[in-house]
Amino acid sequence: AWVEVREELRQRVGKNNYTTWIEPLKLSGLRDGVAQFEVPTVFFGDWVSRNFADQIRLRLIDSGATVERLEFSVASGPRPAAAKPAPKAKPRPQPEEDLRGAPLDARFTFDSFVVGKPNELAHAAARRVAEGGPVTFNPLFLYGGVGLGKTHLMHAIAHEVQLRRPDLRVLYLSAEQFMYRFVQALRERQIMDFKELFRSVDVLMVDDVQFIAGKDSTQEEFFHTFNALVDQNKQIVISADRAPGEIKDLEERIKSRLQCGLVVDLHPTDYELRLGILQQKVDHYRQQYRGLVLADGVLEFLAHRITTNVRVLEGALTRLFAFASLVGREITLDLTQDCLADILRQSDRKVTIEEIQRKVAEHFNVRLSDLIGPKRVRTIARPRQIAMYLSKQLTPRSLPDIGRRFGGRDHTTIMHGVRKIEELMTTDSQLVDDLQLLRRLLQG
Ligand code: ADP
Ligand code: MG
Repeated sequence: AWVEVREELRQRVGKNNYTTWIEPLKLSGLRDGVAQFEVPTVFFGDWVSRNFADQIRLRLIDSGATVERLEFSVASGPRPAAAKPAPKAKPRPQPEEDLRGAPLDARFTFDSFVVGKPNELAHAAARRVAEGGPVTFNPLFLYGGVGLGKTHLMHAIAHEVQLRRPDLRVLYLSAEQFMYRFVQALRERQIMDFKELFRSVDVLMVDDVQFIAGKDSTQEEFFHTFNALVDQNKQIVISADRAPGEIKDLEERIKSRLQCGLVVDLHPTDYELRLGILQQKVDHYRQQYRGLVLADGVLEFLAHRITTNVRVLEGALTRLFAFASLVGREITLDLTQDCLADILRQSDRKVTIEEIQRKVAEHFNVRLSDLIGPKRVRTIARPRQIAMYLSKQLTPRSLPDIGRRFGGRDHTTIMHGVRKIEELMTTDSQLVDDLQLLRRLLQG
């Protein structure tokens, strides 16, 4: 079936991308929701993972496979040091199915986290929590803007705890997943199981908690789970895009509970930190690309120009190396400006409604004009509602404003679309995954 999936992909990614990135992939296994691929180099896997993973995953799913994530390993020779460290001892048997949160990114470790002034407090607090020292902060509340390393730090805590204390149960999940599982449990009348499960973890981490604001019953359950765990001295780590007090529609008692522990923010990056992150990444690439020459001043230039989001910064560097190696040229300032023109132009950008529409249309393979137009068939109406939902969530635009950009629709139509998606999110796990993925694509 991989042959067919590949054929599908050829049509979607274009001939060049196909021969460069897709054709060399070897599907070596498909088990437990993990599709394993053999790739020629670590960098190759990295690149495919960043640029094509979503499409590959979706096509595999279309072909009938169950795929939650992709893994890339280098065909022969040793795995790089960056790969997941082997756990020291076998964890105590767990009800795997139930305790499974979101998958952890093996690259998000403390080792790979560059510390600078803007994030040193958050980093120190995360380390302390992971080490489980005598003074722990409970809950630890991390907040900050998009792409500043909240998720990275949370995964790093999870990795570290699993390494040091394989006997502890660590559960990491997004606030949306928490909500999904809660509503699912309600529906299937398994709320007792749900409570028991969540109360049995030793470390609970909930990412992007602002998403449960306004969801009353979910908040309620979250609050109880939270209290139960804190009472048992279990560690909780929460992240959000802003301080507890500033999250709208979050109940007062939850806010004050969240403030009881340690609240630390990740500040916007400064030049030094950005340069540090770039240097660390470059060291990694140098190992893959021995021949490649990086001219002086390129990293400094990038650190100056791409100021908002670390994810964008990383993406720029990845593209630059891939491009330079494909065309076999030295990485000069000129090449950098050419290759990254689009990113440089909009480095201070915020997510726009137009971008959301484009990405959603691409993701669901519908025409942009249809997405905005009047057609009501489900295959178009649903992606449209998703685009409305994301526009509401990710941009500061008002409903009437969003309506105007969706072909002059009324604000009540937008409201309805947003509500519909919120409602579906409680029953449709595929939708939850799609949203997570789209959000990641858009905010990167
Ligand atoms: P957030 O969850 O705050 O939106 P992420 O944790 O997803 O941001 O970080 C976005 C990207 O930037 C990730 O690839 C992450 O590894 C990287 N990143 C952010 N901060 C740092 C840092 N201080 N050192 C190394 N990488 C970082
Ligand atoms: Mg995050």
